Amino acid sequence: MNASAHIEAVYTEICRRNPGEGEFHQAAAEVLDSLKPALDRHPEYTGTGILERLCEPERQLIFRVPWVDDHGAVRVNRGFRVEFNSALGPYKGGLRFHPSVNLGIVKFLGFEQIFKNALTGMAIGGGKGGADFDPKGCSDGEVMRFCQSFMTELHRHLGEHTDVPAGDIGVGAREIGYLFGQYKRITNRYESGVLTGKPVGWGGSHVRTEATGYGAVYFAEAMLATRGAGFEGRRVVVSGSGNVAVYAAEKVHALGGRVIACSDSSGYLVDENGIDLDLLKDIKEVRRARISAYAEAKPTARFSARGTVYDVPCDIALPCATQNELGGEDAVALVKNGVRAVAEGANMPCTPEAVAVFREAGVLFGPGKAANAGGVATSALEMQQNAARDTWSFEATETRLAAVMRDVHRQCRDTAEAYGGNSEDYVLGANVAGFLKVAQAMTAQGVI
Ligand code: GLU
Repeated sequence: MNASAHIEAVYTEICRRNPGEGEFHQAAAEVLDSLKPALDRHPEYTGTGILERLCEPERQLIFRVPWVDDHGAVRVNRGFRVEFNSALGPYKGGLRFHPSVNLGIVKFLGFEQIFKNALTGMAIGGGKGGADFDPKGCSDGEVMRFCQSFMTELHRHLGEHTDVPAGDIGVGAREIGYLFGQYKRITNRYESGVLTGKPVGWGGSHVRTEATGYGAVYFAEAMLATRGAGFEGRRVVVSGSGNVAVYAAEKVHALGGRVIACSDSSGYLVDENGIDLDLLKDIKEVRRARISAYAEAKPTARFSARGTVYDVPCDIALPCATQNELGGEDAVALVKNGVRAVAEGANMPCTPEAVAVFREAGVLFGPGKAANAGGVATSALEMQQNAARDTWSFEATETRLAAVMRDVHRQCRDTAEAYGGNSEDYVLGANVAGFLKVAQAMTAQGVI
């Protein structure tokens, strides 16, 4: 079978055996579409079931999560952990607590994670998990009881050498703390490396909180530098206002750019003076309120519940909210307003139509599996510190993160050039570079 027919057959089979999992189909198509030149050059990966095995998770867990709310009512959520690929190391990837979570979403995220983790150069495989639980509006006690119930089931599948979850949407330091506490209680082991994203005082790594956002900006900076440009004096739009968005904005400001807009699920916010990050952090992290509170506190800002943040003219866009938030029309609006670079801080925030618009217009585009790899890379640095019972300084850790992001950027360009001829094709470069590392390890480890 030639490479194109092989890829087509694998994709058809993915759709057939994972019905209704649109996001997983989309993520798989995005990778498979890039792989023809890799399979042409490595025919050994066609007859050995590498693609077929890569697209089928090693293990998929679905479990009931019962808990009692503050009114004494029993609530039931559904928990997931998809252990996708362990060729390069223990399964590694976050947990997402959000009402939209289902098996297809977890599978898309786990699949992306395989290649992202490979690109970091660290010894981590790919996995992802979560629950259709909405922490919004829950008390701390409710979140704690939910996390305890979730971990009561999940703990038997975890271990520092087996599967190492972290945070994602809806899972931050608070949730990681409750999850770790329950793991420790059930197993009677203080196993620091079983979860990452822990607070700095008890096993967490400096820079982990900031890492995904900082890393996305380092990646965008590296892309811009290839065209002799940078962030200095640039207008930047960041979507979202969670952990990734806030720390992406912080790094943009440190590099002399100005973040003039951000968003949440209720609408978007424009502050031409540059978003005041202390105020935004206070609203999102301390008060856990909506961004409209920002406009109420700042007369220079305006909040809009209609339209999208991508209507705001900018030089650089950093989508840091969630999957498929930036569609074809948003991309057309950004291009019309002169956007030069787009780097995905979230996982798969741009639809395939949007990516095609950017490609057509020659806009620099950094796909999430490369641009947002800084978060999981710093998780791997946390695992290193835990294994050595050591703590590195903020500066030392950030230096490591910056080096990883430069290296991810270099791999994308070198691989794109070697396999497609165009070094600016970061999608091709990220997919092929990630794939080759995993395929080599899988081949060496035999048919398992
Ligand atoms: N959820 C993050 C991601 O999408 C981080 C995962 C981790 O640190 O394990 O990469």
